Amino acid sequence: MADELKNKGNSALSAGNIDEAISCYTEAIKLDPSNHVLFSNRSAAYCKAERYTEALADADECVKLAPNWTKGYTRKGAALEFLGRFDEAVGVYEDALQKEPNNAQLKAAMENAYSQAGNKAFFNPFADPKLMDRIQKSPKLRSYLSDPDFRLKLQMMQQDPSKLGQFIQDPRVMACVSELLGVNLDDAMNGAGGDAQDDKMETDAAASPPPPPKEEPKPSASADQSLTEEEKKANALKEQGNSAYKAKQFDQAIELYKQAMELAPTNVSLYTNTAAVRFEQQRYEDCIAECQKGIEIGRENNADFKLIAKALARIANANVKLGNLREAKRYFDKSLSEHRAPDVIKRAQEIERQLKQLEEQAYINPELAEEEKAKGNEQFSNGKFPDAIRHYSEAIRRNPDDPRLYSNRAACYTKLMEFNMALKDCDTCIKKDPKFIKGYLRKGACLMAMKENVKAAEAYRKALEIDENCQEAKEGYMQAELGTNDEQRRQAALNDPEVQDILSDPAMQMILGQMQKDPKAVAEHLQNPQVRTKLQKLIDAGIPITMSGVKVVICGGGNGAHVAAGLAALNGADVRMMSTFSDEAERISAALAANNGLLRVTYTDAGTTKELDAKLSVVTKDPAVAGKDVDLILLVVPAFAHAGYLRALLPNITPGTVICGMPGSPGFPFEVDGILGPELSAQVTLMDWATLPWACRLLEFGRHVEVLGTKESMRGSVRLGTVPSRVDPVPCLQSLLGQRPVLNASGHILGITLGSVNQIVHLAVMYGQWYNWDGKGLPESPLFYQGINEETGSLLNSMSAEICALAKKISDTQGVDLKSVLHIYDWYMDCYGKDISDKSTLATSMRTNASYRGLRHPTVVGEDGLHRPNYGYRYMTEDVPFGLVITKGIAEIFQLPTPNIDRVLAWSQKQMGKEFVRESAGGRVCGSDIGMTRAPQRYGLTTVEQVLGVPKQ
Ligand code: NAD
Repeated sequence: MADELKNKGNSALSAGNIDEAISCYTEAIKLDPSNHVLFSNRSAAYCKAERYTEALADADECVKLAPNWTKGYTRKGAALEFLGRFDEAVGVYEDALQKEPNNAQLKAAMENAYSQAGNKAFFNPFADPKLMDRIQKSPKLRSYLSDPDFRLKLQMMQQDPSKLGQFIQDPRVMACVSELLGVNLDDAMNGAGGDAQDDKMETDAAASPPPPPKEEPKPSASADQSLTEEEKKANALKEQGNSAYKAKQFDQAIELYKQAMELAPTNVSLYTNTAAVRFEQQRYEDCIAECQKGIEIGRENNADFKLIAKALARIANANVKLGNLREAKRYFDKSLSEHRAPDVIKRAQEIERQLKQLEEQAYINPELAEEEKAKGNEQFSNGKFPDAIRHYSEAIRRNPDDPRLYSNRAACYTKLMEFNMALKDCDTCIKKDPKFIKGYLRKGACLMAMKENVKAAEAYRKALEIDENCQEAKEGYMQAELGTNDEQRRQAALNDPEVQDILSDPAMQMILGQMQKDPKAVAEHLQNPQVRTKLQKLIDAGIPITMSGVKVVICGGGNGAHVAAGLAALNGADVRMMSTFSDEAERISAALAANNGLLRVTYTDAGTTKELDAKLSVVTKDPAVAGKDVDLILLVVPAFAHAGYLRALLPNITPGTVICGMPGSPGFPFEVDGILGPELSAQVTLMDWATLPWACRLLEFGRHVEVLGTKESMRGSVRLGTVPSRVDPVPCLQSLLGQRPVLNASGHILGITLGSVNQIVHLAVMYGQWYNWDGKGLPESPLFYQGINEETGSLLNSMSAEICALAKKISDTQGVDLKSVLHIYDWYMDCYGKDISDKSTLATSMRTNASYRGLRHPTVVGEDGLHRPNYGYRYMTEDVPFGLVITKGIAEIFQLPTPNIDRVLAWSQKQMGKEFVRESAGGRVCGSDIGMTRAPQRYGLTTVEQVLGVPKQ
């Protein structure tokens, strides 16, 4: 029974009924699951059906059932080759050859797999994940990366190594292959010449002069010895035949091959060579007959399957010449089932495409299309949309150039809420006839349904360009505009490559810059239709024209700087990222260059994640490049690095420049004033923000940064300069950062310094834990917030009260607004109220703040495994010189005693081995390490006026 099914399967397979064959073998396997031949046959059938994974599984089973039966290995090798796993195939053939060392077919198969494996490795150097690094490191190749076109090619080849063939003409690609593989490519290419020539003969037979039949490899001396006298003579005659063929002496060639056949009747290549001659003579039927003979003889004599494949492909080519494309396709497929030669694969695909095209063309009939359309219209009016789609689709097949058909089908898809299909049809409709207004109207309606108001407005606007009186377009446009909120606009714009291109166009940047400075220039630029279209695009995209092109220097190259640069660029700014830190700027530039110049920002906000790609104008270490005509300097680095950037950019800071610390951190205004000097600092505008707007981290340096969360609002303060700034500081920054955090700027700029909580919290908790420490190591690091006792809480209370008293004194005496300076308890309730479970005292609030759970003291672990306090941690190294010393310095100028702050400062500087306040001078801020701080005294600011800054607010 199983045998019967097997035979039925075999017959079905020979007749090309692959599915039937597979089901026969499957039934047979159910009856006889230990029959290895059934698995072998089904594997062959799966291969023919191009179901290679299943073919491999069956071959595996076959080998398992009959480990000494080499055919199973052949099947397995073939399946692996089809799957492109040539290395593994080689291994399988090797195993088989151990069992049957003289099997010529196995040897040939192994050689083939081996050469394919080699080819694969040879031709796939671009699959190396470190490709960009390697190119970047190569002095010879590095410069190519500056060309976006080249980078695009690299990217395409990385994704699809077969693209190499397409780009190999580019000498730079060739140079990469040479260098990456460490081979002399010229040699390698020349070595492959013989095959290439032969391929040409098979596919371009009409070309003249005809290329010679494939030169069989010359038999080696030892091989020659194993040949019979007849075979040697036959080879000599074949050689002569090949020469005659090359000389276009076709009849002579035929005669010589014939004589050779008499001596070596089983030599398949004599038949395929004869066929090649017939092909050149345009005697295609004879060519086919000759190949058929060769195949028959080859099969009987276990000839190399590559020769059989070649004969089959030649039959296919002859059929192409005879116009029998279908037959040609059949033979190409047969050839491929023997051996997957790349040129035959390509040829088969091409013929398939031509066949499809011919079929489509033959089907065209505009009259029938009209009939189908009418039927579609009827079904549409009856509300039978799927039926209408069926008729419209048929009409499209009958007349694919009629735009109305796509538009009608789009209407059906919209009704069925298949918006993507509808959009596709609208786009095709518009492509077929860009003046056909319905295409835009349908597109607008569809986009409205998808809540893509920005894009819908654009579609309706295009409809209005065709007919300005079209009521449907007018109404659609208005509705789309009404329903569009700024955030939607911005988000749509962020991902729109057209917007990105406009913003990175230097000419447009100049125009936008000019328009910012001189609103009258707007009217002038709108005269130019091209500029007008681009400006309209920006306006539609919700990018405030007055903000676009703002020249922003982002100082820094860390997490925050990447986010700030990316968002500002996405929001239209001319972003220059500047890092003076080591070789950071170069590394960022290189990473960007390897990523098509795009910086990716993964932005999670309100539960939604967006991937945004930004284009920065430049990344540089050079302040002259970054600072040219700068409008806004955004410092996104830790406070200790501010001074370096300010000094570097000083020559580019002019009256009207905005300088912004984000975060500014305590003492920021003093540092700016100290570095700029009283005159210039009075003319610039300062913004000081209490923190960074985001929790963020770099995923890939220079290429990809992730925003994990964005603050709802951000507290800051602005000090306006005597010269108006070139951009309106807060709205400008807001539009560069996006809608969140809401920027909340209020009060005097000193409020941010005095209101900083880290300076008291970190230091009070450190002091509380360690001031009377006995010096013995602890088995584990104590909990930082959860571990504080009432005494520490009370100390913190008192320090905060001293700062509040200072703020009050300044406000009362100087009439400035320092309401942003909150007592620490109120601050906790504001920020963490809902996370705190016991609000009875400051200490209990901190201990029961869920957000602080588990945080521990910074410690160093000694060789004894015990923990001791780490006074080199930023809680000390930053919060003293860039925190508490500054507050102490201000209090000193305002002559307000601060005994609790003094106590903590004295202890802290002792642990740090520094002198910021001098005990011998009554605890004044004049210690020998004052130069490390941002205290006003360090910059020689010693009067109330100086501390308040100029001009007074
Ligand atoms: P980061 O550590 O990633 O950035 C440090 C960057 O500062 C460096 O990459 C470099 O560009 C620059 N820098 C450091 N030393 C320098 C030097 N000597 N010369 C020149 N440049 C130097 O920091 P970040 O995460 O971007 O944070 C920036 C500020 O924001 C920090 O003060 C941080 O405490 C604060 N902050 C960060 C986050 C966050 O989620 N990343 C959250 C809140 C606050």
